[in-house]
Amino acid sequence: MFLGKFCFWSLCIPALVSAFKDLPNFVLIFADDLGYGDLGCYGHPTSVTPNLDTLAVRGLRFTDFYSTCAACSPSRAALLTGRYQTRSGVYGVFEVASIGGLPLSEVTIAEMLKPHGYATAMVGKWHLGLGANGTFLPIHQGFDSFLGVPYSHDQGPCQNLTCFPPDTKCFGMCDQDVVLLPVFQNDKIIQQPVNFPELVPLYRKFSREFIARAVGQKQPFFLYYASHHTHYPQFASREYARQSPRGPFGDALLEFDASVGSLVKTLRDYGVENNTLVFFTSDNGPETMRMSRGGNSGLLKCGKATTYEGGVREPAIAYWPGRITPGVTHELASTLDILPTLASITGTPYPNVTLDGFDLSELLFRGGKSNRNTMFYYPMNADELLGVYAMRYKKYKAHFYTKGSIKSEGTPDPDCKHTAALTFHDPPLLFDLEFDPSENYNLLDSEERAQYEPVLKAIRLEKSTFEMAMKFAKNQNKGSDPRLEPCCKPHCSPKPSCCQC
Ligand code: MG
Repeated sequence: MFLGKFCFWSLCIPALVSAFKDLPNFVLIFADDLGYGDLGCYGHPTSVTPNLDTLAVRGLRFTDFYSTCAACSPSRAALLTGRYQTRSGVYGVFEVASIGGLPLSEVTIAEMLKPHGYATAMVGKWHLGLGANGTFLPIHQGFDSFLGVPYSHDQGPCQNLTCFPPDTKCFGMCDQDVVLLPVFQNDKIIQQPVNFPELVPLYRKFSREFIARAVGQKQPFFLYYASHHTHYPQFASREYARQSPRGPFGDALLEFDASVGSLVKTLRDYGVENNTLVFFTSDNGPETMRMSRGGNSGLLKCGKATTYEGGVREPAIAYWPGRITPGVTHELASTLDILPTLASITGTPYPNVTLDGFDLSELLFRGGKSNRNTMFYYPMNADELLGVYAMRYKKYKAHFYTKGSIKSEGTPDPDCKHTAALTFHDPPLLFDLEFDPSENYNLLDSEERAQYEPVLKAIRLEKSTFEMAMKFAKNQNKGSDPRLEPCCKPHCSPKPSCCQC
């Protein structure tokens, strides 16, 4: 445990002990492939999300909150480092046997908080690499403990697994010819294949015990709860199966919402609700190719794996009773801003690297403004030659390149589909997201186009300044090696099917 000393001239007193005792706790809740339009509090008519809706009423709900990428691994790299994924080299998503991962040299939120005495734990979906001997697992990135799955839960054969009790098998195709999905505790496999209906109850128990232990030891804590919900294939435990009017997706969402409720109840039970910032958001937009089993981006255009609004604008809620005034904010903010905000709240120095985030303290605690004017969007496989595909500048969105994706099939909009090839736009497509959040009406196609010249000029300047300063890191997604597939019986044969415990 960190015990600071307060030194004034030659007199040193262990005065920070009392301040340290009051350091706030953080619970960061990250949903997976949950769209902007998926929650009750964001307007979905049949989603049942009473716990998130309550957080929204009692906390600050964001309308203009962004992840940095419309796919899992890059989005998670940016969340945990406060840096665009291009700086850490996380391009594309990591596979079961990927050689690479988020570089260990990157400073995660957990690594930033640990020297300040924080107990740190991660639950759920990591997806920032596994590597040989679990080199890239959360326990090597600042988390004292980890319970979860190293990658996405569709990255392993799922056709014979039960997703909904009593025995409804998982729907559709998951990755074949790789090992069954493992559950890790720290760097050990404790289950293979995963028992989906028991998974979230396991996570809830782990989270409760972690919080109880930290509170018992009077230690501030950081819990990163990265849910598998509502990524495909959906699953739920007995309590939530067939309980939602929205079908399997709704059941998975219901279970996710209940786990949020359980986390808040745990904080309350242990008397730390008023000393804990709970922050909820999602990694990327919905996978609409799953149709009614995928999420919904509401009035936003397209979804996962595109740089349209539906791919990157996320639901987000900040909750801290007594500290954050309930309401709705239209300020521009991002997952990038979480690390600097937590640094500011705890008085922790920023990591000694280029950060892309802003401290949101003024916005969260004093009703002030966000310092953010821009967001830059790269595709999931960012390419230095093409650079930024789209950017937000104040209320405007400019698209320099557009491209559809197979992940965003399923809606009638032809721009979202994989047949919508990469297209360069000069001048860019320009939308006013306050007047037109659905990106329907290109301002430069209108009769008033001349009046947007100053906006366009400012956008070009911001973009070129940003791109000149952006140094792309080497690609950490370095291919795969079947020997790296995690197996609970390391020397069994034949692989991968023998990897079951
Ligand atoms: Mg995702």
